Amino acid sequence: MPLSVKSPLLKYALPCLALFAVAGASAEPPRLILQITVDALRGDLPQRHLHNMGKGGFRYLFDEGVHYSNAHYQHGNTETIVGHSSLATGTTPALHGMVGNVWFDKDAGRLIYNVEDDRYHLLSSNADVDRSTEIDPTQRVALADGRSPRALLTSTFSDELAYAYNGQSKIFAVSVKDRGAIPLAGQTGKAFWFSKPAGRFISSNYYYERYPQWVLDWHDANPLDAYSDNSWQLLRPAQDYLFGTNDDQPWETDFPGFGRTFPHPWGSIGDKYFTTLLTLSPAGDQLTLDFAKTLVENEQLGQDAIPDFLSVSFSSNDYVLHLFGPSSLEAEDVLLQLDRTLADLFSYIDETVGLKHTLIVLSADHGAPEAPPYLNTRGDQDAHYYDMEACMQQVEAGLAQGPFAKVEGLIGQFSHPYIYLDQKVMEQAKLDGAKVAETVAALAEQCNSVNAAITTADTRYSPARNRTVETRVWNNYNARRSGDVYVVLDSQVYVNDFDGLVVAATHGSPWNYDTFVPIFFAGRGIAQAQVDRPVTPYDIAPTLSALLGIKPPSGSIGNPLSELLQR
Ligand SMILES: [Zn+2]
Repeated sequence: MPLSVKSPLLKYALPCLALFAVAGASAEPPRLILQITVDALRGDLPQRHLHNMGKGGFRYLFDEGVHYSNAHYQHGNTETIVGHSSLATGTTPALHGMVGNVWFDKDAGRLIYNVEDDRYHLLSSNADVDRSTEIDPTQRVALADGRSPRALLTSTFSDELAYAYNGQSKIFAVSVKDRGAIPLAGQTGKAFWFSKPAGRFISSNYYYERYPQWVLDWHDANPLDAYSDNSWQLLRPAQDYLFGTNDDQPWETDFPGFGRTFPHPWGSIGDKYFTTLLTLSPAGDQLTLDFAKTLVENEQLGQDAIPDFLSVSFSSNDYVLHLFGPSSLEAEDVLLQLDRTLADLFSYIDETVGLKHTLIVLSADHGAPEAPPYLNTRGDQDAHYYDMEACMQQVEAGLAQGPFAKVEGLIGQFSHPYIYLDQKVMEQAKLDGAKVAETVAALAEQCNSVNAAITTADTRYSPARNRTVETRVWNNYNARRSGDVYVVLDSQVYVNDFDGLVVAATHGSPWNYDTFVPIFFAGRGIAQAQVDRPVTPYDIAPTLSALLGIKPPSGSIGNPLSELLQR
């Protein structure tokens, strides 16, 4: 009988191999921990497109790594900063404090952006968010140009590594998005992200007094030139794709100059939206890869016995999802191209550090919803977009007729997913906040497509009840930052108007399509396995800690994944 992977002989042999590998690892830790995040990579997407992928990328993770196929976040607001912070800290927003990309800061009396910090400044001039061209409305909330991890309330795995090795571990995080890099670097590492106005990777003086020379050299080599007067083209012939005949779908965003069909032109360097369009395509991931490789080389990561940490978060998949939806030719191609980017990264790490010395983990910050019109093409469903402003007007109108009719301005803010009551107005009118919140929640629940409006005082929804959606809302509650009422829209209903930019799909719900992410571990001491039991991404940080034999992050609620720790 030929010896196959499924042979019982090998089944028994594998734990022995794992025993030696892990025993070796405890004597000598990995030289590099490489934590990869793919923004908005829903748990099923790598498998869905694997047949069109090449060698060395996702296929390496499937063939040689441990794949967790049933991983879900257990918090409600599945946004980018929330997920990245959970990956970094091993806990929910209730504890790490990053409850949303934007929240109402009670001291400042205004909405704030998650990583803004007015004590610091960017190291590059003309790199601050340009409000006239920035398409991400959450970025436009920030008043300060400075960025830092100040708002993160618990320690990260990277922090724990820094403490354990007395600051000798080199710790870096890179992403196109500031909020994709900063949480993973923690309080102790260095973060770099891409400035669209400056067309370069930047940092703030929280991290550095001045840039290392290699950062300046990377920019001076004009890496963006190759994209000028060029366009995003399909990697493979159109007929190879699941969505090969669906390039032009009417719900896709027709971004000026970029269009809804291939090829998508980037325009010329210096054009108003040139750098933005790079980030909305595989080019954003390719630039991130190039910068990360330059970092590994110049900072000499993984070259000695002290373990170093590199986080790379690839953002393009998320932007493409928003514009076109995950079931689109663009989304399919961006993943196939990311697969090549990952293969390049793994091969580079193998040459410079050695995969046998590297512990790799890959996951996502949240899943991905479908564009409602796509769902409706598969049957007469009621998936639809939703205007939350209309609901808030309905709530205001309801308040004007109820027991609080004489008090004006009770609602301070709606900032997804929270309604914040105006505390000053309530104090002046001597109102009981819990009662007002209850009334507002009851009114919001009367809005069409609102599934539930849950008040912070609502003890009906205790975690002990283990009701999936309500538990996720509860896990998102942080007393300093969360609002008074959490609004949950129905499954398959999305707000898609971001201050004028109408997009195809929006994540951020507590439903399973937004909480579902893949988790892969590969590299040093890892034997191939597929694990179907339920796990959470909060398990990743404590698993890394356990594999390194260091203490878990301060607020970690996850469990070390037993499949990786078998001895
Ligand atoms: Zn994201």
